[in-house]
Amino acid sequence: MQETDADAVRVRVLVVEDDPGIARSLVRGLERAGYLARSVDTGRAALSVEPAPDLVLLDLGLPDLDGVEVCRLLRRRSDVAVIVVTARGEEGDRVSALDEGADDYLVKPFGLAELLARVRAVLRRTRPQVSELLQHGPLSVDPRTRKVTVSGTEVVLTAKEFDILECLAVDPGRVVTRQEILERAWDAHWYGPTKVLDVHMAALRRKLGVPGLVETVYGRGFRLGDPGEPQ
Ligand code: CA
Repeated sequence: MQETDADAVRVRVLVVEDDPGIARSLVRGLERAGYLARSVDTGRAALSVEPAPDLVLLDLGLPDLDGVEVCRLLRRRSDVAVIVVTARGEEGDRVSALDEGADDYLVKPFGLAELLARVRAVLRRTRPQVSELLQHGPLSVDPRTRKVTVSGTEVVLTAKEFDILECLAVDPGRVVTRQEILERAWDAHWYGPTKVLDVHMAALRRKLGVPGLVETVYGRGFRLGDPGEPQ
């Protein structure tokens, strides 16, 4: 992901996961959603990461330390948000982790869309002061409240339409591929017809009512364009 000045205020997410495949796909998904993400594969490494993360996604089945113990130690040293990840059948561990101060939990397997929703929800609770209003021309998108306005007038979108718009609004001008949007707004691995995206995109454009705001970049994807320019 391109480094920008805004990185300084972006949310840092640490993935603690010993399965390299899962760790890679989580980091990639989080980065695409605009987070600064990195991963470590042991509990010990998780306790000494610098700079300190804002949120930790903690797999409880780690090779060195007990995940519940890692949660307890993280909590003792900071108010970092913690979402624990468990496999089915580890309900006891999950309850212990929540007792040790974890903010939420996810049960494997889970989709990227669900993970991102949990991350947003936890950050809303733990960092209520952070409001990254995304603005572009007449468009304003608030990821926290999921409220969208065009020239100050609220536009009511469906959840999918909002997710699609958010993909574009986090980096106006950048071409976002269809696959990226599908992964972000639907699930980590979407193999269905991409026609469904066109249907939601058409509805989104109609509701926004600003010609040229959502541009199709033929053969590549979509981006937010200069709405002032005629089509
Ligand atoms: Ca594991």
